Amino acid sequence: MIEFKNVSKAYAQKKILDHANFKIESRDFFVLVGPSGSGKTTTLKMINQLISQTEGQILIDGQDTKTVDLRQLRLSIGYVLQQIALFPNLTVAENIELIPEMKGWDKKKRQARSRELMELVGLDPEVYAQRIPIELSGGEQQRVGILRAIASEPNIVLMDEPFSALDPISRRQLQIFIKDLQKKLQLTIVFVTHDLNEALLLADCVAIMNDGLIQQIDKPSEIFHHPANKFVAHFFQEYHQDLSQSQVSDLHLTEQTSDYSLKEVSADLSISDLINELAQEKVIRFGNYIITSDDIVRFLAGASAV
Ligand code: ADP
Ligand code: MG
Repeated sequence: MIEFKNVSKAYAQKKILDHANFKIESRDFFVLVGPSGSGKTTTLKMINQLISQTEGQILIDGQDTKTVDLRQLRLSIGYVLQQIALFPNLTVAENIELIPEMKGWDKKKRQARSRELMELVGLDPEVYAQRIPIELSGGEQQRVGILRAIASEPNIVLMDEPFSALDPISRRQLQIFIKDLQKKLQLTIVFVTHDLNEALLLADCVAIMNDGLIQQIDKPSEIFHHPANKFVAHFFQEYHQDLSQSQVSDLHLTEQTSDYSLKEVSADLSISDLINELAQEKVIRFGNYIITSDDIVRFLAGASAV
């Protein structure tokens, strides 16, 4: 578990993060989302102490990050940036094996690990292991960047807008990929994005930031249903102005019901009207299916393909 206790960061007199108090549970996919300049990167970099807080404590599994050895701390935390920073003169396998090597793993164990990871993400080691980064697409390079960050089995992986430089299709593929990988490997991921849709798609838990203040932390469906303040409500609306153009038949419903006492809606009801209905009834019926706020969140995230 990662715990922020009364953490603030200031440059000169300017507060960048203001008394943050929150916990990130182990094995959670935790997403920090907010507009540019809201303090997301600063918050993320304090976890591995690339930036040091002005005030307060950050604990990882109960240990104060200011008291642990910095090299150990950083080796135990994976880090993925927007700019793919693969070493251009090393092969894919050598890139992935870099941190295990720094940690002193022997060659056999390193090679087994890099092969295993490449297979796990559909990069055939026979084809890709000996290539150099320039021989890969942008999406493949970022995939290798992620493998490099997780190769030595860190408990925590920090990701700062890792997909923002990619085209929409690679981006969607990698979103599905990282969500899947996080579940398979039970990783704790702290992920920064300015894209609310991406946050809703990936997160178990979302923290919405603005101007150095955490506005709300909760499950996506809870935030959606109970925005804590005007900022959060507006942040949602800005992204989803066209909800009156979509309707119930656009949802991808999966859960069936035979409870005909539930209130029923018709196929052509708009999503914006449906949201109002859901504010009153927690569960609504459409034919033999039930609709909950989770279905709306999935729809907003465009996650129907997952
Ligand atoms: P985000 O990642 O949400 O875009 P950042 O954490 O990068 O936001 O930055 C938050 C604020 O802190 C911005 O106003 C930025 O200009 C300021 N800031 C970041 N780094 C520094 C620094 N080294 N010195 C002074 N101000 C900084
Ligand atoms: Mg940033």
